Amino acid sequence: MNYTSTRDNSLNVTSSEAITRGISADGGLFVPTAIPRVDTDFIASLVPMTYIERARAILSLYLTDFPKEEIEADTEGAYAARFAHPKTAPVVNLHDNVNVLELWHGPTCAFKDMALQLLPYLLTGSAKRVSGEKEIVILVATSGDTGKAALEGFKDVPGTRILVFFPNDGVSPMQKLQMTTQQGNNVGVSAIYGNFDDAQTGVKKIFTDPAVKEKLAAHGMAFSSANSINWGRLVPQIVYYFSAYAEMAAMGQIKVGDKVNFTVPTGNFGNILAAWYAREMGLPVNRLICASNANDVLTEFLTTGHYNRNRPFHTTVSPSMDILISSNLERLLFHLCGGSSDEIRDLFGKLSETGEYTVRPETLEKIRSVFSAGCCDDEATKQTIAGVFDKYHYLCDTHTAVAVQVYENYRKATGDDTPTVIASTASPYKFSAAVLGALEGRDVTELDDFEKLARIEELTGTKAPAQLKALKNASPRFTGICTKEEMEQAVYGLLGIG
Ligand SMILES: *Cc1c(COP(=O)(O)O)cnc(C)c1O
Repeated sequence: MNYTSTRDNSLNVTSSEAITRGISADGGLFVPTAIPRVDTDFIASLVPMTYIERARAILSLYLTDFPKEEIEADTEGAYAARFAHPKTAPVVNLHDNVNVLELWHGPTCAFKDMALQLLPYLLTGSAKRVSGEKEIVILVATSGDTGKAALEGFKDVPGTRILVFFPNDGVSPMQKLQMTTQQGNNVGVSAIYGNFDDAQTGVKKIFTDPAVKEKLAAHGMAFSSANSINWGRLVPQIVYYFSAYAEMAAMGQIKVGDKVNFTVPTGNFGNILAAWYAREMGLPVNRLICASNANDVLTEFLTTGHYNRNRPFHTTVSPSMDILISSNLERLLFHLCGGSSDEIRDLFGKLSETGEYTVRPETLEKIRSVFSAGCCDDEATKQTIAGVFDKYHYLCDTHTAVAVQVYENYRKATGDDTPTVIASTASPYKFSAAVLGALEGRDVTELDDFEKLARIEELTGTKAPAQLKALKNASPRFTGICTKEEMEQAVYGLLGIG
């Protein structure tokens, strides 16, 4: 099976090439030329399997140029030892036929681990096939969660180095500690003066500078990208939708063949797009419910067909969904408009020139036949955290709470009582200030981050993840800070190539 670009459908590359390149040279995203189909027997065969076995079954449908033994080793390396739950991504019943899919039992307590634990393996295997034995250098600009998840994923993976830049005043104290205390022999972390955009611009500049590329090549190194639009981050996410379905069948909540709904708290549209691929492959899915916070650009788009990023940007208590441009939407639209890269170039040209576009009525019809959408502000998010804990004794984080609230509104409005899975994307302890505030009914300013963890444990009888608690006594390894202009030198310093 091969891949093409959303902006040039004459392109045809292997999965290894798609993963190594990350983004197509024409600016498009790599998509499969045909989405593999599975039947009921295939789905039934997943039910008794472990998460790793399910991952092997799904990945081998997409990564057809990977040797079988490599997929086996990759999934073992990613999921066998580094997740704190024996099921990797467990399904927890909230009430009746409503379930939560916990995607945050990995090392950084957020769902990005599901993909970023596997990506380094996929990337090193791919790069070996495509470009030989160069050492891969991953460069990341982060506003928080992605940087830590990438550091944990690439830590001590042979043949790779990872360097992360974060804005000194743009991440929470806990996030900063998570990154500056990072262990591993191939990692580097630096703060920069400036905001996230400065970090991002600086990284892009280094990434595309031919002189830097040459200098790295002279030392046997080459840049690659762990960006969220890399196909190697999307494909691992398809797995957990199949796995959730298999878990529900194993629990006796559904029979194989019954339909389910998925509700997904959405930012860049990667997570919910993986659910859409699962549905296209033949997983029995009724509706995909896209949940947004006050940044409701997707709610409007999925209901009206009009995408408009010209709107105020809201900083919310669910920061990983604070986004105005959802990159992965491009992949969905490519598939829905019959693989026309002309149409995609036209739409996304308009987006970059005017900040908006409108899809054709036929495309909107196709969207509406699968997707529902809703949004939820901070006040409702906090009320949901408190309400869900009161009613069901389940503690959810701010992103998950957005999804729970949007799902409840959907169910009330439609009467649709299809068994449902709500994707839970972060541990509640990762967003302790807002979660504690919701439980206490006021902003708790008198406690520091670690005292907040302890207070949530005390109030709820749940346990904070050990890796967050351990940060209290960890001392920072990386104390460097540089200006935007000094970033290139910092890269050489961190790589030890002077
Ligand atoms: C990244 C992230 C999201 C958004 O996921 P997308 O794939 O970008 O839609 C939601 N919740 C959390 C906690 C995240 O880290």
